[in-house]
Amino acid sequence: MSNNKYKILIIEDESNIRSFVQTVLEATGYQVITEKTCENGIMMFTSHLPDIVILDLGLPDQDGIEFIKTIRKNYFTPIIVLSARTSEEDKVAALELGANDYITKPFGTAELVARIKAAIRSNRIVDMESSKKGIFTLHSLKINFDTRIVTISDKEVHLTQTEFNILALLCQNSSKVMTYSEIINAIWGYYDDSSIKKLQVNMANLRKKLECKPGKNKYIINELGVGYRINKE
Ligand code: CA
Repeated sequence: MSNNKYKILIIEDESNIRSFVQTVLEATGYQVITEKTCENGIMMFTSHLPDIVILDLGLPDQDGIEFIKTIRKNYFTPIIVLSARTSEEDKVAALELGANDYITKPFGTAELVARIKAAIRSNRIVDMESSKKGIFTLHSLKINFDTRIVTISDKEVHLTQTEFNILALLCQNSSKVMTYSEIINAIWGYYDDSSIKKLQVNMANLRKKLECKPGKNKYIINELGVGYRINKE
């Protein structure tokens, strides 16, 4: 599949970084649109519906976190945060709100392109599932791969794109334990120092959202030190 198909929105106020990233991505074959503020970024997003967003957090009008909050109400589009903030808290906050990935500045162009390709691949896991138009049920849990709607006892559970992808992956492989590295490679397409942390954050959120009673998750079992599996009992 040609890269030309993909449209990338860059929201970054530093003009040297913005034009650098734009040049790199255009040279890689992507179509690129850019904005300098959070508010304009949201308008650009809704009018152009890009395939991926590269988002700076330190924007002049609002924190980039606000962009993630706004967009995640309605869209699963992959968002890759590109920020100078290096603290674990900042990363976790962005991932918890539904950012797909986090790259700290300074960054290498090869790394950025690899992460974008991984985000596209990860998004296609869902597309693949959707094409089957299947519905997976487990007790009161129902997953519609076509509409990407998850319900428990007919009540909708709102998942981020990454949480949905993880759940879809576990259900698709419901006969086995999925190891941490299998999940990480399938969802993000690569494994690095922050992978386990990203998986833990997403899995904790996912399990919490699927809980019927606080502290009791009967759908996903954590096989300590190994991975996760769907509880079919
Ligand atoms: Ca900035």
